[in-house]
Amino acid sequence: MAKNYSFLETGKVSAWGNKAFFKDQMGFTGMEFSLNTIPAGKGNDFVHSHKQNEEMYLVLSGNGIFYVDGEEFPVQEGSVVRVAPQAERAIAAGDEAIVYICVQATADSLTQYTMTDGVIVDTKASWMKL
Ligand code: ZN
Repeated sequence: MAKNYSFLETGKVSAWGNKAFFKDQMGFTGMEFSLNTIPAGKGNDFVHSHKQNEEMYLVLSGNGIFYVDGEEFPVQEGSVVRVAPQAERAIAAGDEAIVYICVQATADSLTQYTMTDGVIVDTKASWMKL
């Protein structure tokens, strides 16, 4: 029987390459996920949009500038940006390298989440006292 999960060690964040996508490697079926690093003072060299996927950017460290549809705003560690598919977006590092994850999923596809989708089962993990 195939395992119901995938596990991957990505190594130190500081050693992540420029950009790495994980859909195929991890076997995601409802989202794409990427790890990204942009060196200080550099940025995307193109603006892009999507046909059907919305994106979530979560900045893990550093700082930068986010561009969406003609607006620019600063982002930093802890910033989360949700971008609609048709929005035109780009990101650049500021005076520090920016490290972020990007998750993309089909817009309007989420019908259940958290407590309406999660099910607490009777199974116990090793750290759970009986
Ligand atoms: Zn994108």
